[in-house]
Amino acid sequence: MNSNEPLSESERQRYEWQMWIPDLGEEGQLKIRQAKVLISRVGGLGGLAAYELAAAGVGTLILAHAGNVKPSDLNRQLLMQESAIGSSRVQTAANRLRAFNPHIQIVEIPENVSTENADRLVRLADVVVCCVPKFEERLALNQACVRANKPMIDCAMYEFTCQVTTIIPYETACVACRVPEVPPTWKRQFPVLGAVPGVAGCLGAIEAIKLITGIGEPLKNRLALFDLKMGRFRTLQLQRRSDCSVCGQKHHSADQAI
Ligand SMILES: [Zn+2]
Repeated sequence: MNSNEPLSESERQRYEWQMWIPDLGEEGQLKIRQAKVLISRVGGLGGLAAYELAAAGVGTLILAHAGNVKPSDLNRQLLMQESAIGSSRVQTAANRLRAFNPHIQIVEIPENVSTENADRLVRLADVVVCCVPKFEERLALNQACVRANKPMIDCAMYEFTCQVTTIIPYETACVACRVPEVPPTWKRQFPVLGAVPGVAGCLGAIEAIKLITGIGEPLKNRLALFDLKMGRFRTLQLQRRSDCSVCGQKHHSADQAI
């Protein structure tokens, strides 16, 4: 599909209700169609982000996730299904999204983000939604986004709590400004009620649409925190660190000099 073409009649019908949003309209919908969004992992959190971005009509969704569907994925990974146990996660998610919205392109990357592939994956996208459970992956993606000067929406959750912030390199605090290295107590496996990463994934999708369309105020230098067990929500102010090893002053000037 030529992204400069006007919306087709079936696209107009499909997106009609969101095009009623003030400031969105057909112009905003075309921006959404032209956008390329990388979602790193499409499990409990990223699966919901991808689902909502597919519903909104993001023209290209790049899904990165390794491995095959396991029974224990199915309390939260809503793009998977029982019959796909043992099959590729990313392919299962991509098939579901293609069946849901045939107007968009889905790029399947059967890999998790690492320091080896992060730059290559980030180059494919305009906006990145980070939905990874491991700090190593999160820090690798953060570093690649800062290097490529691409916005990254950082989504995370634990048990009944979740948090979201939007990172604009050299403008806002990056992940490493807050968490410079992998916390020593972090466990790969942790308690998850599926609806909680679902909330974080939907919030991540909303942030991506705001960046793409220019509507509203992204969570820049603000960390939205949701304690869903106690029903308490708050927003913390963040500050970029000039001595950050990823986005600090020294590193910024070095990049500018290249
Ligand atoms: Zn930083």
